[in-house]
Order: sequence, then structure tokens, then C-alpha cells
Amino acid sequence: METIHSGITNISDDLCGCSPATSPAKSGPRELPEPDINILTRDAIRIPAHSSILASVSPVLENIIDRPPKHRSSERVIPILGVPNDAVLAFIHFIYSSSCTEEHMEKYAIHLLALSHVYLVPQLKQRCTKELGQRLSVDNVVDVLQLARLCDAADLYLKCMKLVANDFKAVEETEGWKFVQDHDPYLELDILQFIDETELRKKRTRRHREEQRLYAQLSEAMECLEHICTEGCTSVGPYDMEPGQKRGPCSKFGTCQGLQHLFQHFAMCKRRVNGGCLRCKRMWQLLRLHSSICDQSDSCRVPLCRQFKLKMIHEKKRDDARWKLLVRKVMSAKAISSLSLAKRKREEDQLGETRSHCGDHGIRSFRL
Ligand SMILES: [Zn+2]
Ligand SMILES: [Zn+2]
Ligand SMILES: [Zn+2]
Repeated sequence: METIHSGITNISDDLCGCSPATSPAKSGPRELPEPDINILTRDAIRIPAHSSILASVSPVLENIIDRPPKHRSSERVIPILGVPNDAVLAFIHFIYSSSCTEEHMEKYAIHLLALSHVYLVPQLKQRCTKELGQRLSVDNVVDVLQLARLCDAADLYLKCMKLVANDFKAVEETEGWKFVQDHDPYLELDILQFIDETELRKKRTRRHREEQRLYAQLSEAMECLEHICTEGCTSVGPYDMEPGQKRGPCSKFGTCQGLQHLFQHFAMCKRRVNGGCLRCKRMWQLLRLHSSICDQSDSCRVPLCRQFKLKMIHEKKRDDARWKLLVRKVMSAKAISSLSLAKRKREEDQLGETRSHCGDHGIRSFRL
């Protein structure tokens, strides 16, 4: 059997500038006694070490060290056999110095993660988790994922899962994935489930965003409706006011213009709502929505506001749940938009952009 001195010599050189294995008497900032234990690697290499230092960093090593020896005279040896020799050296180096070289991390982060987990060295585990997270790639992600699962490294596991889910087509081609398919059906199932859930979550978020945008549009339409009916905009205004006099387009002109077209159509259309005209029906619904939200009683100048209110009182029970929900959502969109001016500005820009691309289609996207 061979004894390796260079590793431990370097370790203690790093630590205190002395070399316990070769010159214990040499003075230094903190002298270490003679090594009293050996770590045995898988190639039968012995690394001399100090049981007190090993025990102070790893409770698992402490337990092993505290076990009474089988024979009084027998040499104290701790075997660490599952990883390459140099990974064991890097591990011991960390125990002595609380640090890891870039080179060690690059080559042995996977082994060091396993060792830090088995021997309960949380600082090293954290360092390896971070390092492996930064070095994740399509090619190594499945291997790291397996290890993260074995080592209960939850953050790393999640990071791997996300990468697999986002780039599954490429991951599917890797050896790692093929290995999992052949040997680890539970992990395969976990991964596929995670991908499914991610897709679902994305869909839900998309739907939620679309709904929020719709309510925000409706809330803006409600503001424009009031503005058109009280002060008038470029081409439509209250009957007792000349529209467009010295008045440029308002700040929400994208929506406002669509509504003004709708008003003009509503006034002229021969088919009307009952004739099945979809544009008139839309106008009708916007007016009804306004009335559901409006808190002015007689002073409101929006057409049909009072009539709808009266109708609602008579038909209270028939006011369906879906409509009430819509009213609530539009009101909360209104509250949100008035609370957050910055957000409103952003949405205005977005809506303005959308409208400039599609004319008054914004109104058509209101699915009432
Ligand atoms: Zn306007
Ligand atoms: Zn019509
Ligand atoms: Zn009103």
C-alpha cells in the first residue's frame, strides 16, 4: 500500500504554513500535531489526516472516529472508496481549509456533492450545489438531476427539472436521458409529470394574463364611454355639445376612437340589437356594463344608464352570475389601473400599439 503525503502536506501548508506529515516540529501560525488517522481511497492510497479536524467538520466522520477500534493496536483508517482519489483529496482539502479550488470544482463538483451529503458538510454541499447549478447544460442535466435527487439538493433538483422541461427536445437526445429511460422509471415519470405541470402552469398564466388584459381593456372602455358622453371626444359627444371643438385626440384615443365608431354605428344602424346586429349588441353590452358599474344616479350622461339600472332592480334575480363576475373583474381592473399609474401608462402604450395595428379591433376583442 502506498501513502500519499503530497495532498495532506499541501492542505496543511494552505492552512498554517507547516507540514505535519513531514515536519511536525516546524513552527507556524498554528501548529498541527502528527496525523493520527488515514483516509483510504479506492486505489488503496492512504491520506494521513487529523481525527480532531475531521470530527470537527463532519459529524459522520466524528461518529466513525469515536467508534472504539476493533483491535487496540490496529491502525486507524477511514475508507472513502466511492469516488476518484483526487476527489477524496479535494474533500479533505475542504475539511482543512473550508475552500475549494476552481479546478477541484470543475473536475469533482459531482463527487464533492455526494461526499458533502454523505458526510454532512453543509458548507461544501452549498458550494457544490451552486457550482453545479451554474454549470448545468443539456448534456449533464440528467446526471446532475439524478445526483441532486439522491443528495436531497432541492434547489439544484428544481433547477435541473426546469432546464429539462424547457429544453426537453434536446435533453431527449442525450445519453443521460436514455439511461434514465432504461434504468430509472420513477425519475422518468417525475420528469414527465414536471413537464406536464409546467405546461399547465404556463397555460394558466397565459389565460390569466389574457383575461386581465381583457378586463383592463373593458375598464378603459368604461372610462372612454363616460368621457365621450360627458365631455365628448373628436367626433362623438353629448347632444348639447359640439364634438371635436378645438379638441385633439384624447390620451386613450385608441379605445376612444373604436367606441366613437361604435356610437356612430349604433345611432344609424337599421338592424339594431334585436335584428341581430353584432356591433349594436356590443354597444348594448358596453352600456349595460357601464350601468352596472356607474355610481352616479341621475346626473349620469351615458345613454340608457338609468334605464338599465331600473331594469336591473326589476330583474334582480335574473342577473346571472357570469355577468356579476364580469362586473366585479372590470371594477377591480379599474381600481388596479387607478392605483398604479405607472402600470396604466405601460398598458396604454401596449394597447396603443395594438390598436394602431388593428384599428378598432380592440373593441371586437371584448368577448361579452
Ligand atoms: Zn376620447
Ligand atoms: Zn348595428
Ligand atoms: Zn352611468
